[in-house]
Amino acid sequence: MKEVIVFIEHRFGEILESNFDALSFAYRWQELNGGEVSLLILTSEEKKEIFNNLKGLGNKIYFLKNKILEEYHPEFYLNAIKMFLKRKEDYLLVFSQTANAYELAPSLAAEFFIPVITNINGLEKIDDKIYLIRYFYGGKICGKIGLLDEKSLILTIQSGAFKFEKQEFSALIEEEEISLPIEKNTEILGYEKAEAGEVDITQAAVIIGIGRGIKDQKNLPMVEELAKKLNGVLAGSRPVIDAGWLSKDRQVGSSGKTVKPKLYFALGISGAFQHVAGMKNSDLIIAINKDENAPIFSVSHYGVIGDLTKIVPALLKKLQ
Ligand code: FAD
Repeated sequence: MKEVIVFIEHRFGEILESNFDALSFAYRWQELNGGEVSLLILTSEEKKEIFNNLKGLGNKIYFLKNKILEEYHPEFYLNAIKMFLKRKEDYLLVFSQTANAYELAPSLAAEFFIPVITNINGLEKIDDKIYLIRYFYGGKICGKIGLLDEKSLILTIQSGAFKFEKQEFSALIEEEEISLPIEKNTEILGYEKAEAGEVDITQAAVIIGIGRGIKDQKNLPMVEELAKKLNGVLAGSRPVIDAGWLSKDRQVGSSGKTVKPKLYFALGISGAFQHVAGMKNSDLIIAINKDENAPIFSVSHYGVIGDLTKIVPALLKKLQ
């Protein structure tokens, strides 16, 4: 049975939300294949308290401690994980899809000469064979990667691809003070926080997705009102983001976010594969589009053919 080791990211004393993407994958893997879920935390003795809340989330928690691991540094982190993995065999090392993961995952795969598979957004077991699912060619093709008898693998998990369902473990905790070389070629000069988005669309239960069919910024209040009435949030296709009507963190699709809400309302969205890649696993999809042949209807559970500028106000009246 493979041990699934989830790399936990933190920054300035805060555990990142993105960790739940990798953790959700790990639980799904465990459900299908057994084995243990472990959390790998790199930190310092002084800071280890901030991880107390994670203690029930895995069968095992590994703390690798050193003052220089208090904050992320590519070389120190790489060295520490290398040291840790040298003692392991038959494992899955799982990262959430973050900038740090892009840095660490391929470097570790090259170091240990094991495969790395990025952007995983699905996992299936068919006739006892495991398949990892991801998009290829910018989202044009959804492919299943069948696992052979690889002993170890490194994976990165797409944001929002797996639903987080809390599990309770009584974790075994292993703490180790490690010594690491302090020579480095990279100096971290500072950290610039990206503009904070007001909402995390990957966590929303109801999403009103708007596309170019909304036509004009003056139609935004109408859809904002619909979002409010349905206790949902607004998200958009790329043209809407490019036009600056919604912020970048609200883009759904292959170059935006993957969402899985209970309800995805697609308003004036054609259903290009790059968009569909990010929302097709929503529990319920309702589309409004004036073109009866719009591809969005092929992934929708309910479709309304018509002009959204007439249908949305009528709907708002009904919801009144
Ligand atoms: P359109 O395709 O222009 O569709 C507008 C729709 O609105 C039409 O179907 C039309 O019938 C309908 N409509 C018009 N007026 C009305 C009305 N009054 N009432 C009702 N319906 C109306 N796109 C994304 O969304 N997310 C991504 O992450 C993404 N990544 C990309 C990555 C790459 C590398 C590339 C090349 C493209 C990417 N795209 C992405 C762009 C994608 O290919 C499409 O161009 C985009 O999704 C189209 O957006 P849309 O559906 O809003 O616009």
